[in-house]
Amino acid sequence: MFTAKRVADEKDWMKGETGDWEIIIGMEVHAQVSSNSKLFSGAATEYGAEPNTQVSLVDAGMPGMLPVINEFCVEQAVRTGLGLNAKINLFSRFDRKNYFYVDLPQGYQISQFEHPIVGEGEIEITPEDGDPVTVGIERLHLEQDAGKSVHDLSDDETYVDLNRSGVALMEIVSKPDMRSPEEASAYVDKLRGIVRALGTCDGDMEKGNMRADVNVSVRRPGGELGTRCEIKNVNSLRFIRQAINHEARRQIEIIEAGGTIDQETRLYDSVKNETRSMRSKEDAHDYRYFPDPDLLPLNLEQSFVDNIKANLPELPDARKARFVAEFGIPSYDAGVLTVDKTVGDYYEQLVTGGEKPRDAKIAANWMMGDLFGALNKAATELSDSPVSADALGGLLDRIGDNTISGKIAKTVFEKMFEGGGSADEIIEREGLKQVTDTGAIEAMVQEALDANPAQVEKAKDNPKLLGFFVGQVMKASGGKANPQAVNQILRDKLGL
Ligand code: MN
Repeated sequence: MFTAKRVADEKDWMKGETGDWEIIIGMEVHAQVSSNSKLFSGAATEYGAEPNTQVSLVDAGMPGMLPVINEFCVEQAVRTGLGLNAKINLFSRFDRKNYFYVDLPQGYQISQFEHPIVGEGEIEITPEDGDPVTVGIERLHLEQDAGKSVHDLSDDETYVDLNRSGVALMEIVSKPDMRSPEEASAYVDKLRGIVRALGTCDGDMEKGNMRADVNVSVRRPGGELGTRCEIKNVNSLRFIRQAINHEARRQIEIIEAGGTIDQETRLYDSVKNETRSMRSKEDAHDYRYFPDPDLLPLNLEQSFVDNIKANLPELPDARKARFVAEFGIPSYDAGVLTVDKTVGDYYEQLVTGGEKPRDAKIAANWMMGDLFGALNKAATELSDSPVSADALGGLLDRIGDNTISGKIAKTVFEKMFEGGGSADEIIEREGLKQVTDTGAIEAMVQEALDANPAQVEKAKDNPKLLGFFVGQVMKASGGKANPQAVNQILRDKLGL
């Protein structure tokens, strides 16, 4: 029988090839609205401010204070809903979700329960090395964030910072349509790309501005759904993959040992790479939701929605289709290059920012290979890349006009990335210009032929052995000889 421990290939497992078991994943993503003020008060939302300096009387839960809806936040929720191809509900309502917590001074969170502002929608994701998958969106609702308990300032006391109390969140709930850790992280990546393109959330997971609650269960393929566990507040794509991987294996082991899964809320510990139980999972009725008597239902005009729709920016899917049509690059490349707005902007500048259009496929290869590889290694974001699109474009121009070979270009790129200057400066300084002087190449070819008489005889009968001499000459020239010229001169000398 299959057991989680016996999965030989970790990579296949991450892609959902999990033998006798199927992993079922649904997500609730909290995305903080990019708004300067809170959902029901005028207090500021700036990140990293001194504790308790951005708290209005409403956010502090003082008696007699009335919440006032922030129209800008409503607009952002509608924009996001449209970006998720979802139904916008012209009627929605705010409800109180009641629970006690020290960083929730009101004693309840204002959320939307029965009537969310956005209904069903769907987005398409492309997991790494996988086929596109459509993930259903169940709903998007607006709600307030809670404050923050601070445990590490004192050994025996907990402090409360209410700056975050009342900040607007969009909770985006997916259907349980994902089947592997890779799909789950591709989903959040896509979601982030959409909200960033829309400008409705900055998608900064490190700051907690976007965080995922991941629901995981396992079942025999085609069987009944298993009991799910929810892993709270996972804040990076890698942690999402690891948390699901760990949690699914934990559940499988329990079931295979004859046990049952308890529905509970769990916490992912990225240091120990494990999930731990926080509390048994509560159900919606435990919160005693009821309509907030301080707030009128939201009634949107169709024209308000239409106006937002008419002014949506180009979204990742549309941009992907345009890249395929306009630049003729493969669909997979176009998908990678358009998930994030910054990446797409960089690519467009790279292809179109030169004196004449640059080769779109070569540009894509350089970005997805060398550039992303170097950024990854340096743990740097593209927005902080030491090599700008114009600088990389300058390098591609020198490959294009045969000043350097593609191989030498890798060396130049490494130096550019380390801050060595422009491609032209590095080529000049390091003497990397391709040797196109046929006299010089001829001398090197002759030298290679003279040094290997036996190979010369063989090559005359078998032209495939030409490669050996090309290699010798390239080596002798430090990679700088023009490969076409070397080939031609060799052929001439060998009479091929
Ligand atoms: Mn929520």
